[in-house]
Amino acid sequence: MTETGRAAVFRGPGKGFELRELPLPALEPGAILIRVSLANVCGSDLHFWRGDAPLALPPDGWIFGHEMTGRVARLGPGVETDSLGRPLAEGDRVAYCYFYPCGRCYVCLHGQRAACPNKVGRPTGPGEFPYWVGAFAEYYYLRPGGFVFRVPDGLPDGLVSPVNCALSQVIFGLAQAGFSFGQSVVIQGAGGLGLQATAVARDMGAARIVVIDQVPARLELARAFGADHTLDLTEVPDRKARVRQVRDWTDGRGADVACDLVGFPPVVPEGIEMLRYGGTYLEIGCISRGRTVELDPSSLVWGSKRIVGVVMYDPWVIPRALEFLERTRARFPFDRLVSHTFPLERIDDAFRQAEWYNRETAATRITRAALAP
Ligand SMILES: [Zn+2]
Ligand SMILES: [Zn+2]
Repeated sequence: MTETGRAAVFRGPGKGFELRELPLPALEPGAILIRVSLANVCGSDLHFWRGDAPLALPPDGWIFGHEMTGRVARLGPGVETDSLGRPLAEGDRVAYCYFYPCGRCYVCLHGQRAACPNKVGRPTGPGEFPYWVGAFAEYYYLRPGGFVFRVPDGLPDGLVSPVNCALSQVIFGLAQAGFSFGQSVVIQGAGGLGLQATAVARDMGAARIVVIDQVPARLELARAFGADHTLDLTEVPDRKARVRQVRDWTDGRGADVACDLVGFPPVVPEGIEMLRYGGTYLEIGCISRGRTVELDPSSLVWGSKRIVGVVMYDPWVIPRALEFLERTRARFPFDRLVSHTFPLERIDDAFRQAEWYNRETAATRITRAALAP
């Protein structure tokens, strides 16, 4: 008899999920089967669910989700350690990359694994080996050579689950933008990414952190995560006034770095305007193709400004993210990042609520919904 597990198979925008029993795969050498313990509904998952991100859905559906943590269920032949050479055994808690830089392309050759064009590949259906390709399921198949790191005992799953997406994403993004000790940063958007970016920037020695959003409860959370100043769009509806305000808070210069962690294109030119001469704009938020914005490129030329786009990260980020959590968990309220946890069979609910709460202006605590498969 083959062993099986349950997975939430996505049927397409508007159609929701279907729970299915799937066989556990035979492990290839170098692969690891992970028993997922917590999977978050990430902002990018909502794009797929809603149907505003490009997606060629396999005919038998798709298991998606990527922000997760779990325990080693089975080690494939030859796997004895994690990616730092530390012994790995069944039952160990792990954090891992959900994408796979190919190591055999021009981009990988130049050491830019996060930018590898082959790191994700086409989505495969639940009928195709290795079946378990997403987080919204009881198991996840970490492909041979996938990056995996043992999790320190003291960190609860709720803190670890955002590590392989939101947290690593912002740590890598800030590094790529050249953000460093004593600099100032504007963070557009106080969702999961924005709050973690705030805490990371604080820990990196930011001189000044400004967070912009339109939900007062999120801005309150941003202050708890280390923001010096928060700017409420509803209180300062005039764009010029907002740019002036940021300049006032940064000794009249503008910020060294500004980050789009919103995913709403119109914020981009405004963020660029908030930069000092020679500053860097970090673009992470906008993942939906085809949504455009008007931009005067001469502002980049005359302002000597850079725009850096980043999707995913180099695997070295994960162990540093885990250390960051150990170092700062008493300092920032990470337990407030995941606000609602659902069992796998209520995944449709989890998505509806995540969507609802992200639009709810009176929400007091909501950031991420999580599934405990
Ligand atoms: Zn994500
Ligand atoms: Zn590559």
